[in-house]
Amino acid sequence: MAAQRIWLKNPLAIALPAHCDGRGGIVVEGSLVDEVIPAGGQPAHPCDVVFDAREHVVLPGLINAHHHFYQTLTRAWAPVVNKPLFPWLKTLYPVWARLTPEALALASQVAMAELLLSGCTTVSDHHYLFPGGLESAIDIQIEAVNQLGMRALLTRGSMNLGEDQGGLPPRHTIQDSDTILEDSLRLVKRYHQRGPGARIQIGLAPCSPFSVTRELMQEIARQAEVLDVRLHTHLGETDDETQYCLSHFGQRCVDYLEDVGWLNSRVWLAHGIHFDQQEIARLGAAQVGICHCPVSNMRLASGICPTVDLEQAGSPVGLGVDGSASNDASNLMYEARQALYLQRLRYGAEVITPERVIGWATSGSARLLGRTDIGEIAPGKQADLALFRPQGLAFSGSHSPLDALILCGAQQADRVMVAGEWRVTNGEIAGLDIPALINKHQAAARQIIRQV
Ligand SMILES: [Zn+2]
Repeated sequence: MAAQRIWLKNPLAIALPAHCDGRGGIVVEGSLVDEVIPAGGQPAHPCDVVFDAREHVVLPGLINAHHHFYQTLTRAWAPVVNKPLFPWLKTLYPVWARLTPEALALASQVAMAELLLSGCTTVSDHHYLFPGGLESAIDIQIEAVNQLGMRALLTRGSMNLGEDQGGLPPRHTIQDSDTILEDSLRLVKRYHQRGPGARIQIGLAPCSPFSVTRELMQEIARQAEVLDVRLHTHLGETDDETQYCLSHFGQRCVDYLEDVGWLNSRVWLAHGIHFDQQEIARLGAAQVGICHCPVSNMRLASGICPTVDLEQAGSPVGLGVDGSASNDASNLMYEARQALYLQRLRYGAEVITPERVIGWATSGSARLLGRTDIGEIAPGKQADLALFRPQGLAFSGSHSPLDALILCGAQQADRVMVAGEWRVTNGEIAGLDIPALINKHQAAARQIIRQV
C-alpha cells in the first residue's frame, strides 16, 4: 500500500529555509515531507487528506537539546528556590538519591508531555543518577519516549567523583567507572538507531568536571569514538566551576576539555557561558556545539551565554530547557521567547530575531544532536511539525504571525506531528490521561522530599 499523502494547505505562515516559498503549504507522504508548495500551487500528485491550515502557523518540530527529566519531581522546592548552582546541587543531591524507577517513569512522562504540547518533537535527556535499584534508568526513559511517540537522544550520564574524593556529589549517588562503561556499551548496542528517521538514539554524558574523574572523561571520549555516538556534558556554567577546575586540575575548563579528548565536533555542551574570546575561538574551530539554556541560567544567576560569538566562531548553537529544578518549566516555546529577550540584552534587537531563536530551537538543536534529517521543513526531511493557532486574547491585535508566536508568548501547540503521525490534536496528546499522570507524579514528588 502506498504511503498516505497529507496536504497541509495554505498555512497562515510557515517557517522555511530562506528564499523558499511555501505559502501553498506542504505535502507529507508517509513519514517524510514530500513537497513544499508555493503560493497558488497544487501538489504534484493527488493527496489522500487535505488539512486546511489557514489558521495555523507551521514550524519544524522543536528540538530540546538539554534536560534532566527526573527534576520535574523537585520543581519550585523551597529550600533551593534562591540558591546558585553549587549550594543548589549540594542541597538537592540527597533528595535525588532517593529516585525510584516508578518516580523516574512518571517524571519522564511529565517532562516529555509538557515538551510535546509546546511543539517539541525530539528530546534529549541527560540522566546521570543511578542509585541502587535504578540501574535501568535509561531503559525506563525509553519506554516513556515510545509511549508518547516522540524522538529522543537519551544520554547515559555518569558521576564517579564523590565528596570524599574532592567531588561535589555524595558517595551513594556515584558509580564506579567499569559499571558506567559497561552500561553505556549495553545501551548503545541495545537501543541506538542510526541513519535518517532514527527514533531512539543513545549518547554518553559524564555529568560535569566536578562530578567525574579525568580518567573517566578520557575513557568515555574513547568509547564514544569507537561506538560512533554523541558526547555531552555541562561546561562553563558558573564561575564556581571555573574556580573548581583551576584548583583541582590546575587549568581552565576549556583546557581541561581539550586535555581529556573532548574538543571535537562529536561534543555538545550545556550552558557554555564562562569562556574568554580565545576559548570561544578554539571551541568554534573544533565545532563543539553549545546548548543555550536561558531560563536556568537566569534562575541560578549563572550568566549569559555568548551565543553569537560562539556561532561566529563556528560552534552550532541550540536550545534547551535544562532540568526542571532550575527552570522550572519544560516548555520550549517559552524558552525560545526567553532566549530572545536575554540575548537581546547582550547583542541588541537587530541581531537577535524571532527567526534566529526559532532556528536555535530547531535546526540548531538538530546539529547538536548530530542530525540532518530533522530541524527543518524541506523535501526529504522527516515530517516532524508543530502547528500553532495564534488566537485568543494574547494574540488579539497581532500582525506578523511568526513573530507573534515568540513576541506574544505562544506556549501550546494545537497540533504536533512526529514522523508523519499526529501526536497532538486540538491541544491534546493522543492516548495520554494527563489528570491521572499528574496525580501519580504529584504523589511521587511529595514522596521524594519526605524525610528531608
Ligand atoms: Zn543541566
